[in-house]
Amino acid sequence: MIITYPIVETFHSLQGEGYWSGVSAFFIRLAGCDVHCPWCDQKESWSQHNHPQLSGQLLTQQVVAANPKIMVITGGEPLMHNLEPLTTELASLGIPLHLETSGAYPLTGSFDWITFSPKPYKPPHRSIYNHVKELKVVIADSEDLEWAEIQADQIPPTAIKYLQPEWHSQKSSQIVYNYVLKNPQWRVSLQTHKYIGVR
Ligand code: SF4
Repeated sequence: MIITYPIVETFHSLQGEGYWSGVSAFFIRLAGCDVHCPWCDQKESWSQHNHPQLSGQLLTQQVVAANPKIMVITGGEPLMHNLEPLTTELASLGIPLHLETSGAYPLTGSFDWITFSPKPYKPPHRSIYNHVKELKVVIADSEDLEWAEIQADQIPPTAIKYLQPEWHSQKSSQIVYNYVLKNPQWRVSLQTHKYIGVR
């Protein structure tokens, strides 16, 4: 039986956020998310319906054609799906495979890098914490800093910690700037792809 996944879009661009910012990346955006962040800029990904179902084999062919430095499975919330078959298929390419997740569901699949972006609207499943390579907490207002610290206490000490201003909140950049100056264990993550006008 061929396993397929609902795909919102695939595209080749630069990773815009976090540690791998600026690197050539092929994105696979899976449909489905019930975290429902009020400021979400991917609301079209919330429903699993009305999106084409693609096989891992077809997605692998797209990656080969793009020839990126890294592959990124994102969403939506990708862990709503069993990612084991998809990551097994993609791993055959020998290209580093990254996951971007809120961690709201149990971890499935094998990854070289996990970007963990926990959301208070649907708290993470405990299976994610030991596998986090970078923590990226979106900050809309100062109350979110407390949530960021609670999450940071549960990840490996080697994980890199980012605060990312919420794009639509004018005060968020100043909140993050002030906090990182006083708490240098944190870094600022900017959505650089939006500044240069690419996806
Ligand atoms: S977890 Fe991501 S895709 Fe889901 S609602 Fe939040 S920002 Fe949107």
